[in-house]
Amino acid sequence: MLNFGTAGIPLSTKPRTTKNAFYTLRKMDLNALELAFVHGVNIKEKGAKELVEHARKIVVSAHAPYYINLNAKEKEKIERSINHIIKTAEIIHIFNRYSDVNRNVVFHPGYYLKMDKKEVYRIILKNIKRILDYLKVNRINVMLRPETTGRVTQFGDLDETLSLSQELGILPCIDFAHIYARSMGKINDYNSFYNILEKVENTLGKEGIYDMHIHISGIEYGRGGEKNHLPLKESKFNYRALLKALKDYGVKGTVICESPRLEYDALILKREYQDL
Ligand SMILES: [Zn+2]
Repeated sequence: MLNFGTAGIPLSTKPRTTKNAFYTLRKMDLNALELAFVHGVNIKEKGAKELVEHARKIVVSAHAPYYINLNAKEKEKIERSINHIIKTAEIIHIFNRYSDVNRNVVFHPGYYLKMDKKEVYRIILKNIKRILDYLKVNRINVMLRPETTGRVTQFGDLDETLSLSQELGILPCIDFAHIYARSMGKINDYNSFYNILEKVENTLGKEGIYDMHIHISGIEYGRGGEKNHLPLKESKFNYRALLKALKDYGVKGTVICESPRLEYDALILKREYQDL
């Protein structure tokens, strides 16, 4: 079984508040919301506590701010990046106390900055370890999920993300649109998607398949990979083949729709998945 939902507040939510987002989603028969802290963690602890009761039946996750770079040259930037992820985790932890499925914290780990990729991997691994230690000591119960990223300058191709997750004992966020964009459109058919799922199982075991966190969107790419997100129907990204691979493989977890049409495209994904 898969949960389907949106990255951020659905477009039709009026007024556009997080509290109302939960009601919009339930009304549309969707059941996941990824809080989009892309420009900063804009919900405080008190606000999150008030939201919990409105989140019934909705799986709540969060996306940490975009300007994170765990491979930054400046120490302050690393500390700030770590802090963004911890702040995001603290909010999800509040939802986690209410339901165990609310635990996913998605983030883009950082940029290569033209450095040796193995060295970048080592630095990012070390910094995520620091975050995991902090979460453990402070009993903040979340799952950190490094995401497969869409631009070739960003750390986080599939192999790096899987190996990082395996080494740290965490799980990834698999953004299939990013993988497609990063491959310049090559990874876009049933077999390629199925192979990715096999790779996930081979590195992370059944847990990687039965507790998957997925991003889907239409997307446009250029020589550097991801350019911008698009509505599903305006992109060549073969989301139908992906849905079929997810179904055939028996993947369980949550699919977050990141297209500009948010809930409308999330519904397309859900319905087409159910009709398979
Ligand atoms: Zn992301």
